Amino acid sequence: MKEFQLIEHYFRNKGQKRRDVELSIGDDCALVNPAENKSIAISCDTLVENVHFLADIPAHALGYKSLAVNLSDLAAMGAEPAWFTLAITLPSVEPEWLERFSDGLFEIAEYYGIALIGGDTTRGPRCISITINGQVIKGSALTRGGACNGDWIYVTGTLGDSALGLDILRGAKIVNTEDKEYLINRHYYPTPRVLAGQALRNLATSAIDLSDGLVSDIQHVLKASKVGAIIDVSQIPLSASIKANLSREEALSYALTGGEDYELLFTVPESQRGAIDTALIHAGVKFVKIGQICAGDKLKLVDDGEPFVPVSRGFEHF
Ligand code: ADP
Ligand code: MG
Repeated sequence: MKEFQLIEHYFRNKGQKRRDVELSIGDDCALVNPAENKSIAISCDTLVENVHFLADIPAHALGYKSLAVNLSDLAAMGAEPAWFTLAITLPSVEPEWLERFSDGLFEIAEYYGIALIGGDTTRGPRCISITINGQVIKGSALTRGGACNGDWIYVTGTLGDSALGLDILRGAKIVNTEDKEYLINRHYYPTPRVLAGQALRNLATSAIDLSDGLVSDIQHVLKASKVGAIIDVSQIPLSASIKANLSREEALSYALTGGEDYELLFTVPESQRGAIDTALIHAGVKFVKIGQICAGDKLKLVDDGEPFVPVSRGFEHF
């Protein structure tokens, strides 16, 4: 199969059509017509085999996850997904693999109403790179830079599941059969908090998506906002599946330092707390308060008032 046949068969005329796309796949560039009062939010994430995903990842999961991690960046800015391009590098053309990859990719693309408008197809070690474009009303994008002393810190969902799922896949952890599928799915099929991010516009003072782990990612907010933070680890949301299989210490270690949760961390002033409750309940997302922004530039972890040091998981994150 030639390159153009591959594009035609697996990527062109698939998924979402949008009226703001004037020219899609097939020419030298795509043409899109953004709304007049909106800024365009742009982000790019690359997944490299054996670095960002295991070689035996199901093709459907890889297609889904490649777009999910990019959508998560739009979510963190409060942007609405609009268009994306796909640069795909493969060692060979395997029709069944491509079919499943394309199914996974368009499953999530259609759910979020985002259109594939172009890309690049090359031969080489397996690698997927997506550039995503979203729109957000001018001046209302969430950034990492607005957290203020006294703001409350929240996270969506539960933390640590994806890192535990990865360890199960790598054979580094064994869990109950009834929790195994859930945890692996949390690793393969992250849920970008797109609606929650949009609901937080004009309410949250800062936001970030958790891709490297809470302790590491919150530092970006502290640095950009020039503030410190106190987090009470007893408030960190843990799934029933993680609690059923790990000690509290170990579960907290996954939740604080494990990567790839793709949940949102955001800060809210006291005056907006009620509004946040309403906004996020409408977005259908669970969220909890885990701490507070303070003066300084340090992150302090406490466990019901006592200083807390997460236990090492004893190996490097993949
Ligand atoms: P060029 O040589 O001008 O870069 P290509 O032959 O690489 O053009 O691509 C032809 C068309 O197909 C372009 O519109 C490009 O955006 C699109 N395209 C190429 N690869 C992909 C892909 N993997 N997914 C979606 N569109 C693609
Ligand atoms: Mg090209």
